[in-house]
Amino acid sequence: MMEHVRLFDWNAHVTERHFVEETDLDNCNIEKILRNKFYDPLISSDSEDEAPNKLNWDEIFAPKTNNNDKMFIPCLRPLPPYPKLSALTHHQHFQILKVLSEENPHILPDFPMHKPQKQDHKVYEAVKEIYLKEQKEYIEWAKSLWFMEHCIRTLRPKPAIETVYEAEFKVKMLRMSSLPKQYDIAAQIPLESRRKTCEAVLKQELITVNLSDTPFARIPDNINKHFCILRASAVPEPCPKHPYQFVLPNEKSVSVLPTSEIHRELAQYALTNGAQYIASENALKCLMQQNRPWTIPISVCEAIGPDGDPVNVVVLDSEFAATKECAQMRTLKAYRHLLEQSLIPMKEKTRVWKNKKEGLAPTKGQTTVEVDESSEDEDNMFICTDDDTVMSEMETESVTPHCYKKIDSNMDKKNFDKDAVGYFTRAESKKISESINDIGFYNCTCKDSAYENPPRRSFKKWQFRSKTEVNHDIIIHCPHKARSKSGGELLIEPIVDYQLDLGASKQTTDSIRSLALSLMLRKNASVVIARVDGRTADIASITTMSADKFTSTHADIARSVPNIVYTALGQLQGLLPGHYVLQHEVEHGMNGLLLSVCRGARAPQLVLAAGAPPQDDAKMLRQPPEITPELLPYHKFRKTIPCAFTPFEKQLVKEPKKPAPKKKAPPQAIKLQAEQPESGTTRKVPSHSGDLFNELNECSA
Ligand SMILES: [Zn+2]
Repeated sequence: MMEHVRLFDWNAHVTERHFVEETDLDNCNIEKILRNKFYDPLISSDSEDEAPNKLNWDEIFAPKTNNNDKMFIPCLRPLPPYPKLSALTHHQHFQILKVLSEENPHILPDFPMHKPQKQDHKVYEAVKEIYLKEQKEYIEWAKSLWFMEHCIRTLRPKPAIETVYEAEFKVKMLRMSSLPKQYDIAAQIPLESRRKTCEAVLKQELITVNLSDTPFARIPDNINKHFCILRASAVPEPCPKHPYQFVLPNEKSVSVLPTSEIHRELAQYALTNGAQYIASENALKCLMQQNRPWTIPISVCEAIGPDGDPVNVVVLDSEFAATKECAQMRTLKAYRHLLEQSLIPMKEKTRVWKNKKEGLAPTKGQTTVEVDESSEDEDNMFICTDDDTVMSEMETESVTPHCYKKIDSNMDKKNFDKDAVGYFTRAESKKISESINDIGFYNCTCKDSAYENPPRRSFKKWQFRSKTEVNHDIIIHCPHKARSKSGGELLIEPIVDYQLDLGASKQTTDSIRSLALSLMLRKNASVVIARVDGRTADIASITTMSADKFTSTHADIARSVPNIVYTALGQLQGLLPGHYVLQHEVEHGMNGLLLSVCRGARAPQLVLAAGAPPQDDAKMLRQPPEITPELLPYHKFRKTIPCAFTPFEKQLVKEPKKPAPKKKAPPQAIKLQAEQPESGTTRKVPSHSGDLFNELNECSA
């Protein structure tokens, strides 16, 4: 053994070199890379004149974001049970996808996709007919799956969703407490008349809201990590002192008046400014929505005109809740609240709230200024979320669970963490707020909370004109909730998706029309549409659209907006002073019921009571959401086009194999009888015979 070792010449007499020479360096690839002189030998140099491309090593060594294994695909679900193969090949799918990806650059931008070539566009045009036909079939199949399984998911929203809905519902119930309780049908009024071509003209801006007074929303350009909107957040609480969280146009703080008095004040304000109608944006948005039930309070109040004569003014107020809505609406409303809470950083809200409280005029560029950590707390109301709530760690709101202890041990206001979003139960948070504010029965519960100041409202005078009939002057007031980095106003709108594994649900005409109205009422506003998974509350995609783009995409729908408002206002003319309710049911189509206060002996049509039964869920479930061929991140990732069956054979659902005629072991009782015919049927199996049965089972298996 040692012989071999000795035989090997360990000392090869190579001239020892301690220093690297220049020639070595020139031949050394690492050195070339470091000096950035390395040329990729694989790149052919057809044209000698052109300098070969230098490699950008910074880019190459930068951490890979397009690493497919680690890349986050929002709402990637297991494959749906595809019943058949697509009529298009997987290569055609890929070519169409290239075209679609170019049209939707915001969808999964981290996932590289080649630019579509002429050839790809040609293929797209050639197979378009086949694709459209397949889409129809696919959408029908999605409907069948809705009835078979998906609708079950919508029936029971998560407890956290119900909590948020419930909170808003209670606030609305309190708002209605000063209005009459029983109403009966007075008239049926049409909400749309197709013959009219009306237009809306802005006549005067009475009260404007400086956008720097609204919080700035952080809209992610790209959903590259798990983003769930279901997180602990502040919810409104009914306040006995402030039954209606409303700042009257000539006041600075939230009014303590009941709703009926607020209507009276608004009517006087309208008449003073030369209008016979005053409406909240929310009331008019309801008029735009015909596929869901709603109820809005309407008051006709006598206001004193400039010449001292009384004039009737119609006040249309925001939607209230007479009964709890169906599961889908509850989810949508809760998601709207949660989405706004998730996108608007708490720091921003605090800043706005603080500015307002101190009565300081906010200076420009203050958005990035950090809020003083030791200042007062902004929220002392938290919802108690259930255990499966996913707290997504957004940079905007860091979750600090230890803040709970902080508050518990030392109920000092100054110890509240600014970004604290904790797991408080309602009882706990109430205890905290009680200890801080010393709340009595009729005292304010919204003081020092995010709801002390509702979003600022602008008041504008509009004229709805018709070529053939009278014009209506109306004051419309709308809240301004968020703005973008570039300074424009943002409208945040969720679309709840219940069939995300099959595709995106179509945005309803209702939603488009009410957004078109909101855009019309604002200057320089954009829409942020977030698709949220109905089951998990995860965001699947976020699209921001400018007002121009939105209204041009949905030109037909947007055009009907002034018509609807004009028609409704015309119908409300000439009403006697008093309180009314405008009620809409899906079955009414483009009509609404005008209810007046119940005077006769007949049973009322509507009773405002807290214990009213909830709306019929089944009614809404019978209308399946329609799937639309919108590109979602997972389409791009899986290389399949939206609203088409799979091009990959292995993704087809496996036909359930007919169970082979298996020799089943006969039931033990029968076996027992066969083995021991003399034993009684009621006899229990003795423990020692267990082995015997096992053996028997093994033999027959
Ligand atoms: Zn209050």
